[in-house]
Amino acid sequence: MKTTYFADIILPVPLPRLFTYEIPEEYITHVELGSRVIVPFGKKKIYSGIIYALHDTKPEDYETKEILSVLDEHPAVNEIQLNFWHWIADYYMCTLGEVYKAALPSGLKLESETKVHYNQDWLPDGTLTAKENIVLDYLAEKKVATIQELNGITELKNSLPVVKSLLEKEALFVSEKLKEGYKPKTKKIIRLSEEYHKEQKIQNAFTDLSRAKKQLEVLMSFFTLIGGAHPDNFSKTIDKNDLKDRSGASSALIKELVKKGIFEEFDEQVSRLSKSNDTLLGVHTLNQPQQVAYDSIKQQFEDKNAVLLHGVTSSGKTEIYIHLIKEQIELGKKVLYLLPEIALTTQITSRLKRVFGDELGIYHSKYTDAERVEVWDDVLNNKNYKVIIGVRSSVFLPFENLGLIIIDEEHENTYKQFDPAPRYHARDAAIVLAHMHGAKVLLGTATPSLETYQNVQLKKYGLVELFERYEGIKMPEIVTVNVRDEVRKKKMSSHFSSVLIQQMNDALEKGEKVILFQNRRGFSPYLECNQCSWVPKCDYCDVSMTYHKQINQLTCHYCGNSYALPRVCKACGSPSLQTKGFGTEKIEEDIKIIFPDAKVARMDLDTARTRKSHETLIGNFERGEVDILIGTQMISKGLDFDHVSTVGILNADSMLNYPDFRAFERSFQLMAQVSGRAGRKNKQGKVIIQTSNPDNPVVVDVINNNFLNHFNSQMEERQAFKYPPYYRLIHLTVKHRNANTANQASDYLGEYLRSIFSHRVVGPQAPTISKIQNWHLRKIMLKIEPGVSLNKIKGLLRDAITTLVTHPGFKATVVQADVDPM
Ligand code: ADP
Ligand code: ZN
Ligand code: ZN
Repeated sequence: MKTTYFADIILPVPLPRLFTYEIPEEYITHVELGSRVIVPFGKKKIYSGIIYALHDTKPEDYETKEILSVLDEHPAVNEIQLNFWHWIADYYMCTLGEVYKAALPSGLKLESETKVHYNQDWLPDGTLTAKENIVLDYLAEKKVATIQELNGITELKNSLPVVKSLLEKEALFVSEKLKEGYKPKTKKIIRLSEEYHKEQKIQNAFTDLSRAKKQLEVLMSFFTLIGGAHPDNFSKTIDKNDLKDRSGASSALIKELVKKGIFEEFDEQVSRLSKSNDTLLGVHTLNQPQQVAYDSIKQQFEDKNAVLLHGVTSSGKTEIYIHLIKEQIELGKKVLYLLPEIALTTQITSRLKRVFGDELGIYHSKYTDAERVEVWDDVLNNKNYKVIIGVRSSVFLPFENLGLIIIDEEHENTYKQFDPAPRYHARDAAIVLAHMHGAKVLLGTATPSLETYQNVQLKKYGLVELFERYEGIKMPEIVTVNVRDEVRKKKMSSHFSSVLIQQMNDALEKGEKVILFQNRRGFSPYLECNQCSWVPKCDYCDVSMTYHKQINQLTCHYCGNSYALPRVCKACGSPSLQTKGFGTEKIEEDIKIIFPDAKVARMDLDTARTRKSHETLIGNFERGEVDILIGTQMISKGLDFDHVSTVGILNADSMLNYPDFRAFERSFQLMAQVSGRAGRKNKQGKVIIQTSNPDNPVVVDVINNNFLNHFNSQMEERQAFKYPPYYRLIHLTVKHRNANTANQASDYLGEYLRSIFSHRVVGPQAPTISKIQNWHLRKIMLKIEPGVSLNKIKGLLRDAITTLVTHPGFKATVVQADVDPM
């Protein structure tokens, strides 16, 4: 009896399930877990998906369709990855399809708008149906069309069965773009055929070609390029384009020589990624404190899977990472080096490149898709890369044999993905990933997160400390300026205290550089009517618009909506509108007035949106072409600059007063990190913190560089108010286009959850920003005490959400879960 085999497939749809398809006979022998397949979905769609399971059980509740095509000879995704995806989906309460979408570069998937291509080389074999002819006629002309477009042809209506049969006949193809994305770029190479490796043969060739002058010239050029017609050079190869350039020959002319059997032409893989040409420098020798730290890390790895390297800014942590990476490579293992942000990769990458050269791969979202596919392919097939440096999505690369994961700046909240799902924390996911590989984890930072430091205290993680900067450079001197006093004494110019201006003056006179930190971009946060206090708000979101002077527009930082500045108040008609508060753009404008001769640059989301602009900004500052760098938190992150002597933190209050239970923790981190930019290599730096509350305990801890005191006092508060890391949080966001329905649905869900979880449920509440892009948002928070099984709670939550979204009264309600929200 014939057995039918089935595959359960992960598809990029937000349904919490897998989809079962029948495996056509011809594929049965070579389908594997993790292979990419193309399948029809519903009546009108085609998707690519990943095989998650193989079996011979026919599903009972629906008719299975057949897989259209299997894209990979060898799986594009390995089994550890499938387990990892499963963990992410489970822990972060999302679907495998959502993880799949986030994990694979788009070059490896068919997106929803699938295109079919016309196969120009195809010759009809047998008769075609009328519908097949319609599709072929259409495509013969257009060459490529989406399934949707084909469905629009009136005589056709549903093109899928027709497309399917044409795919089988190979008259069309859908997968070529995918395979292209996956296939490395190649170049044409020319070499002498083996037969001609004898000098006698060459002599004959010269004689034979004496009447084909042009071909002879090509052959001569070839010999020049390989360094002469000497047997030592006969096996050398050259780029076909070089030969064309040198000899002026056409492809056809070169082909003549291939036909005669003198040349051979073949494809060689070339990288889309730039190769380093620098000579490699060895690693630096570690100084004594670094060596002690290094030894201690290795010793603690004997019985701990994770170790925290808590080292002040500039203590030489990166240098220790480099030594650990080197060691793993020598052991034949791979290393993943995680960074919180692209902003950081530029500097660290060039440091690592100098040591690891082409064994270093880089992976982040500013890379083109083809480049990302190439990195994926390299890692999958164990080609060049031994160490990958990347941002959060690089935890999804198809690693095998991972020995170590370094999580640099582990405290950074950019490790957490907010939107879309999976809302994962790359640090926490990386720890799970390392466990699956039997790899070790090194977390590094000058300002540990409470979560990580608690794990140290619980002895789950090891701890290594470095309290001295490399080469004994002093920690900066930090002082506060009470802006309230300064204002009273009329000593503020614009947003700068007299103390700061004086200090900047001194620094600039000595040719030193200055960094000014303002955690807000734009010109001013908002515009206000002097008559009636009206403030322009976004039409789609419940936030005030930020004024950007350069483009003279109001912009919403939540949805990007922007419009021209109104000339009069829309509420009372008064022309007296005033900007309130200040952002980096305003600081830049004012500072240029105060220091007209200084070269000023600004680094924030507006000026450093692209990889290039960002690299340029950092490069300019590194080369000393900028005197004053103004920036948002972007400049706080581990950047290592020479000659910065002065750092000004312009408005500490706005950070400290931010309405979030992590505000103090964040403020400590930001202030300590920004201060760390001062006085790196040449002398002690000076940091000036402007605040109206110099006695704030966070400010005091920053000044004294007292992490432990900060940690202890924050932990006390978290425990008292039932927050992480003592309690676990899960946020549910109920979304609806209609405010009333959003209220009713969230009330319903809140009641329902309270009946199961009682006091653990907080809300529903309208969040501070209760409308984004015309979606009305309501939040419900779950606070889960230590010792309760999260799995059980998540199971009940999933059921509750399903009950809500399938309730006829709450059609089109969306519920998003965020586990361990930041
Ligand atoms: P961190 O990562 O802790 O901020 P870095 O590793 O960036 O510190 O070190 C700070 C500076 O000191 C860098 O410019 C680095 O090149 C230099 N440095 C650190 N350790 C060494 C060493 N062992 N030999 C030479 N230079 C070092
Ligand atoms: Zn008004
Ligand atoms: Zn908006």
